[in-house]
Amino acid sequence: MMNGPGAGGDPSARLRDELDSASCVLIFTGAGISTESGIPDFRSPGGVWDRNQPILFDDFLRSEEMRRESWRRKRETDRSIGQAGPNRGHRAIADLMRRNPASVVVTQNVDGLHQASGIPEGQLVELHGNATYAACCDCGLRHELDEIFRAFDRDETLPTCRGCGSPYVKSATISFGQPMPVEAMRRAEAAARACDLAIAVGSSLVVYPAADVPLMAKQHGARYAILNREPTPHDGHADLVVHGEIGPVLGDAVGID
Ligand code: NAD
Ligand code: ZN
Repeated sequence: MMNGPGAGGDPSARLRDELDSASCVLIFTGAGISTESGIPDFRSPGGVWDRNQPILFDDFLRSEEMRRESWRRKRETDRSIGQAGPNRGHRAIADLMRRNPASVVVTQNVDGLHQASGIPEGQLVELHGNATYAACCDCGLRHELDEIFRAFDRDETLPTCRGCGSPYVKSATISFGQPMPVEAMRRAEAAARACDLAIAVGSSLVVYPAADVPLMAKQHGARYAILNREPTPHDGHADLVVHGEIGPVLGDAVGID
């Protein structure tokens, strides 16, 4: 189903027309692109937030028990999403990025599946960090999860930074109450100014400041398309709204299986 100016015809063909007339594309992705890989999105019943209140960044810093609880939860979520791989939607976007090196993916996702689909770091901006490794909140040093879980599984030993000794080693995601990553926001804004087409894929478009990115592109004169299963608050701003399943619609639009 489709609405917006010029609605009619098959959704993949309409998206393909947009892609064909663009020279620089910004793809803005949300949790919806990973549901076909078996990772639940934010809103699905039984999702993580249904069961637990999120741990705020300040509480993580303040309390050893909160840090322990956050690692317990991470152990559980990683068990359930550990085997996930990129799906047809990820592959379609990777194909677009290969064909047009000026284009960029700005993602809210933390699952690392855009990288796994072959998109180079230079064409990928992660606004909310990455859950597939950990980082020191003080010096930024990367820590691998396997190593952390080996000690944690034994007796819930918490990680400390092997670089600076800090007790604040956390999943490399942006927690509630933690400032947005400055460099990622800068790159996302630059991509929004540079593109002539922004496509929001699988995002409810309610989480800010992330959701400002495709709107900013629109304000700078880009066309704006939305591909999502259900309506979003941005639909009124978009030049094209496609309500459909991401893998089939995007796969057909880009011409990959
Ligand atoms: P969201 O869950 O708020 O919205 C996802 C949207 O995608 C929904 O509107 C849903 O209807 C739609 N959708 C789901 N599967 C679809 C499909 N197969 N085809 C078409 N539409 C589909 O996600 P959001 O906007 O990204 O915001 C959630 C926040 O939670 C983000 O900040 C994100 O970092 C985080 N998160 C990330 C992951 C991940 O990394 N995979 C998973 C859950 C939550
Ligand atoms: Zn450190």
